[in-house]
Formats: sequence, C-alpha cells, structure tokens
Amino acid sequence: MAVGLATVPVYSSWQQHDPGENCPVDQRYAALSELTKNDLRQHFPQGLVPRHCNVAEGLQRGEIEFVQSSGTTAERVTNIWHQSWWNASEASSWKLNSHTAQLDGTQREAILASALNVGILSDKDLTLQDRRLSRFLFLNEKAGASEWTDRHYERMLQELEAFQPVVLEANPSLLARLAWWALDKGAPVFQPRIIVFTYEFSSSIHLRCIRRVFSAPLVSSYGATEAGYVFMQCEHGSLHQNTDFCRVDFQPLKAEHGGPQLGRILLTTFHHPWVSLIKFDVGDLVRLHDSHSCPCGRNEGFLLSSLEGRLANATFTPEGRLVTTKQADDTLAAVDGIRDYQLVHLARNDYTLQLLVDANPDLVVPAAAAALRSLYGKNMRVRIEPAVDILPGVSGKYRRTHAVFHFDGKGLFS
Ligand SMILES: [Zn+2]
Repeated sequence: MAVGLATVPVYSSWQQHDPGENCPVDQRYAALSELTKNDLRQHFPQGLVPRHCNVAEGLQRGEIEFVQSSGTTAERVTNIWHQSWWNASEASSWKLNSHTAQLDGTQREAILASALNVGILSDKDLTLQDRRLSRFLFLNEKAGASEWTDRHYERMLQELEAFQPVVLEANPSLLARLAWWALDKGAPVFQPRIIVFTYEFSSSIHLRCIRRVFSAPLVSSYGATEAGYVFMQCEHGSLHQNTDFCRVDFQPLKAEHGGPQLGRILLTTFHHPWVSLIKFDVGDLVRLHDSHSCPCGRNEGFLLSSLEGRLANATFTPEGRLVTTKQADDTLAAVDGIRDYQLVHLARNDYTLQLLVDANPDLVVPAAAAALRSLYGKNMRVRIEPAVDILPGVSGKYRRTHAVFHFDGKGLFS
C-alpha cells in the first residue's frame, strides 16, 4: 500500500475507508477515493508532502522545484518536481523496450516539442548552443509549428545531421510536419537509432508520414508530469506498465461506451520522496490488450493495446455512444490524402471537420465524410472545411477531437 496514505495530509480523510492490511491490496485500493487535479491544486504544496517534509526547505536545498504541467486551464497543475525521481522513472520505463533498454542514459538526444511544454521558449531564434542542455538538444524554441519558416525546417534537418542524436524524442504532430517538409522538398534526413513519442496522442496519420521519412523503430512512451513514466511500448507494439514506479487501477467504461476493454486509468506513484499520488485521475482513456501476454515475454502489470486519448477530448455518436480520439483517428487514417484534421462535436448530430489535405479535396472530402459516417452512424451531419493548417491549443497541445458541450464523464463508467 502506498506509504503516503498515512503520512500525507491530502489523504487524512481517506484512511477511514482503508479496510486495513489484512485485506488484499487490490481490495484496499478499491475502497479508496480518487485524487483529482483539483485536490492537487487545493492542497499544494505542503498538503501534498509527508508531514516530516518541508517544501520551503526542499526548494532552498535545490532538491525540488515547482513545474507546471501543460494542458487547458482546467487541466493545468503546479507540481513538486524531483528531477532524480523523474530520471529514475524514465530509466525504468526504458527497460520495457528492447531498443531503449540497450541505452545507458549517456546518449545524445534531440527533442522536438513545443517550447511551451519543454525546452527554452523564445520569440527570437536561438543558436544551437543556446538550445543545448548537457546531452540534450532542443530543436525548437517556438510555441508551435505555425511559427516555423523554411529556415527553421532546414535548420532542424541540418542540426540533426550535425548533432547525430541516438534518440529523437518528439511530439508526433511536430515530427510529422518536419517529415512532410522533407518529403515535399526531397531533403535528406539524418536517421537516429530510436524515435520516442511522448507529450501527446499519436495520430496514425502522422505515424504513417513519419515512417516514410524515418527508418528507426518508433516507440510510444506514456506518462504525465504529475506521475512520471507510466506505460512504454515494447518492440511488439504493446504498452507495458512501468510497475517499479507506479500502480495502475483500471475503471472500465460501460459496455455501451466500449467497456470492459476500454476505460480510464488511476495512477499511484512509488518511491517519490516528496509526493506520493494515490489513485490520481490522469484523465486518459486506454484499451486493454485482448490477451494477457505479449510475445516479448514481459508479463508484469497491465498490458495495453492502445492509448485512446483524453476523456476530455471524447466525442459521441448522435445516439450518445462515446467515441475516443483514437477511434476517430483510425477511421480518418483509412482515408488517403489527409495530413491533419480536427473534428469538433458541436451538438447532438452536428459536427465540423477541418481537413488539411495533400491530395485533390474533391476526392478526400467525400471519402472523409463517408468514413466518419461509418463510425458515427447515418444520422451524423458533418460540415467539412479545408484548412491551411491545424493549430494546437494555447497549451501547445493539439486536440484532434473534442466536444464543445459539457458531458457527465463519471456517468460513462461502470
Ligand atoms: Zn511486449
């Protein structure tokens, strides 16, 4: 049982619900409430740490710092960050893929992400040296790809060649844009040994484009600023739980919304000397693997077949069945000629789809409409608008799908 239950003020009212150490551990967790982002905000910072820890002293000693997680205003939280725990959580997760397991943690890594999420944000262009941090190179200093000109694309490709990273860690939306540019220009691209995706949902459309340019194994890493590294994709494509650093509780959706294989996850962190999250509602949906075993032989913890996107980004059929971002994405990925999209559910049977296409729109638009109707049903009314680009939200993260109306998230789960 997480030690924080007895020692951290935020859980003081939870202890009465714990059936005690004579009960099986799963039963004890099941009896507990869940930790929300609102709880983190309300009890920050001293209420989130064990009573014997003093946040002001930890900050003064440089042991911890405050780091804000990204996302919409409702999702943003200030976290107590302990770098060595984060590093250890990452190293542990990298053992779950045979390609990343070979690395010793000293390799050169290039990072392509929004500078709102990681790296150094700057209106002015920064030199390569300004964007170096020990063994890391941040390829981008802008909030998003809409600020990139040909000069930036060229610079990124040149810097990859010069820096020769072993690992390229990327936000897939941004790496797809670099891949399109290289394809359009016929520019040669340096090949890193491994590409790790993180920061956001990976669209199949983007993975396909990245695959045309990069030959390295593509590995999806799933975590959260609050909870560290939680799932890692192995060389067979399944996602394995980082069991040394977290516990996962799974709550299935109701059958009419895709349960019991589809559901949300609640995260409990281990070994963090300052913050121990218990059943933290991270807000993401996942799909359990059909079989309980993966050909890679790793068999501890939960095994997922896919990450399905945020619950907050879910849409619905006109009849009210939940559709995950991944379900919409897979459907649109089957249509040729789409580079990017954003699907917005406006009201019961009304939707808009913004499409960025690289083929004749007269062919792509009807094909996209037909594909969406196969998923959402014949009552769907969708207005399709060609777009010059699809932009991320103010947080720097893309929302490929979402509904504009409020829905009762809790009522969707069994
Ligand atoms: Zn595996």
